[in-house]
Amino acid sequence: MKVIRAKSAGFCFGVERAIGIARKCTECGKNKVYTDGPLIHNRQMMERLQKEGILEIGDYQSSNELKEEISNSKNSADVLVVRAHGVSPERREYLKNLGLIFKDATCPDVGRIAGVIKSHAKKGYTIIIMGDPKHPEVIGLLGYAEGRGFVVKCNEDIDKLPNIEGNICMVSQSTMFPDDYQQLAAYLKKRFPKTEVIDTICGATKERQKDVTVLAAQGAQAIIVIGGRHSANTVKLAIVAKRTGLPCFHIETLAELDLNKIKKYEVVGVTAGASTPEFLIDEVCNALNAM
Ligand code: SF4
Repeated sequence: MKVIRAKSAGFCFGVERAIGIARKCTECGKNKVYTDGPLIHNRQMMERLQKEGILEIGDYQSSNELKEEISNSKNSADVLVVRAHGVSPERREYLKNLGLIFKDATCPDVGRIAGVIKSHAKKGYTIIIMGDPKHPEVIGLLGYAEGRGFVVKCNEDIDKLPNIEGNICMVSQSTMFPDDYQQLAAYLKKRFPKTEVIDTICGATKERQKDVTVLAAQGAQAIIVIGGRHSANTVKLAIVAKRTGLPCFHIETLAELDLNKIKKYEVVGVTAGASTPEFLIDEVCNALNAM
């Protein structure tokens, strides 16, 4: 079997940076390092970080109280790290006032979207975000809209918007499909011509999506996508893989891969989400190479 690994498979710079920040905080070895919800959306990597003393507290959407979870063992060197997906300004204030050292691991690309929203909201724009309303990144971004923000996923959501007077600024969650975003932006503009559309899909997402089509062009007969089922960018990669028409296997780890089903293919493409660690990708590639 020939195994082709996508060039971009695995960690993006925002994830690497977040992990680096959290790991650096454990260096003195005497403190606890907490993350507000999962630092990144990969369960296996979060388990590994936990063994290194980086503890995920709080819930998936960074919305609950953390005081109780940290009160038992608080010392002055303990650190709270903001996840790569970012948080709302209110949550940021809350985290800063917990009495821990505060470190921000928000991906700079998410920070850029927050900046765009903040500056436009200040000028009186209404903000429309294309994305998943339950995703922590979107929840955090909405907090910068000064109460004039809406989240939309499809044309029907746009139909349901109230009448909006004045200017609109449209952005998207960092991990959307560029084509879908353009289509939705055109639909929004039809209803609200005073809409300014800003491309906020991150480069890492675009690169990973493009590389899936490259795998197909290189002759892959099936595509394996490795990464968390709650990782937005990994789920999108699996959709791109399915759109190529090739059989697609979305797995979190090697244990989920049905090797009997895979062995009939002579060329298999492998890619992985932006939060999938190298050790999980290697494990799959090694098993395939051994077949
Ligand atoms: S996928 Fe994009 S926005 Fe998300 S952490 Fe990576 S670079 Fe940042």
